[in-house]
Amino acid sequence: MIEYNTVKKRVSRNTIRMIYLYPSLYEAMVASLSSHIIYYMINEEFEDVYLERTYLSSKQGPYYSLETKTTLRNFEFIVTSLHYELDIANLVWMLHSSGIDPRNRFRSQPIIAGGPAVMSNPHPYSKIIDVAVIGEAEVTLPAIVEKWVENRFDKKRFLEEVSSLEYVYVPSIDEPDEKIYRRYVEDLDSAFYPIKQFRSVNVEHPFGEGFMVETSRGCRYWCRFCMESRLFKPYRSRSFGKLREIIDQGLLTNNLNKVIIYSLSFPSSNVEKLIVRFIAEHGYSVSIPSIRLEYVEDDFLDLIKKAGQKSLTIAPEYLCPTIQRLIAKYMDLDLVLNSIYRIIDHGFDVKMYLMYGFKNESLDDIRVML
Ligand code: SF4
Repeated sequence: MIEYNTVKKRVSRNTIRMIYLYPSLYEAMVASLSSHIIYYMINEEFEDVYLERTYLSSKQGPYYSLETKTTLRNFEFIVTSLHYELDIANLVWMLHSSGIDPRNRFRSQPIIAGGPAVMSNPHPYSKIIDVAVIGEAEVTLPAIVEKWVENRFDKKRFLEEVSSLEYVYVPSIDEPDEKIYRRYVEDLDSAFYPIKQFRSVNVEHPFGEGFMVETSRGCRYWCRFCMESRLFKPYRSRSFGKLREIIDQGLLTNNLNKVIIYSLSFPSSNVEKLIVRFIAEHGYSVSIPSIRLEYVEDDFLDLIKKAGQKSLTIAPEYLCPTIQRLIAKYMDLDLVLNSIYRIIDHGFDVKMYLMYGFKNESLDDIRVML
């Protein structure tokens, strides 16, 4: 694989060898902003630590690091992210096929796991992972890595030390009902941001070749089915000045011309609308996430069009008021229809996220929706 922005460090006897094991395909890893945050943050903050990466592939194991082709079992510390519950099956497979016992009590390397599946409920993984991180990487992971640096090769002592952190759950030490306090970044402007972002020459980014910019984290809304809004509350936004700085530096450093915006509900503030204007007026192109229907306004659509986006996604989820009340995501049917016509009038293709399969839902409800 030929990749841009791979971190290269000289490996010596004193180097602390860690690996970021991504339990899904490279395409998913490259599109996951948290993978970039973890990779660059740890390598920048810890001079003696070399955090390499590996990801799920269709090849038979053992797994090797992307950077130095070192086998997985030769790393002393494993960091992973479980974005979905079923990622655990891939994690177990990757460990097993690399000759590492997936069961935590038979393994010398600690596995530090974070991500939505772990944050929402770490218990199903308690026989596999050693440390569950309940919080956002920027304000949790450095302290955990530091504890390993201080207690290298003494897993028992490391786990005792790390269990004292209030946002960490250690299944082998903590009681299942132990109170754990989620930690989150309070001020996004001052948090670490990966200006360099890895990407492959051979594997296409799912959102096209571009620089990923997280404009906000969390969500202002509270749809009943949505786990992300609970795990990443409260809603926080980067300032316009910070976003400009990130975009200017990121496009230049990565030699790119396109901004891929990451935001749970977009736009949720004036800043997010202003940043689309900034991108369009500077001749860059944009890829935006699904757009809130309340903001389908002509001038905003013109800006998005100017910045080269060809299709727009909206997420009404359901079009029958009874179910909308049930899921606490109410959208007026007229608003949905008018928005669709307006989007089409501006020359975009429309994609819609719809859900079905609710209790008490009738066939007529689904018919109305379709
Ligand atoms: S608007 Fe989207 S991100 Fe926000 S709570 Fe609803 S589903 Fe979740």
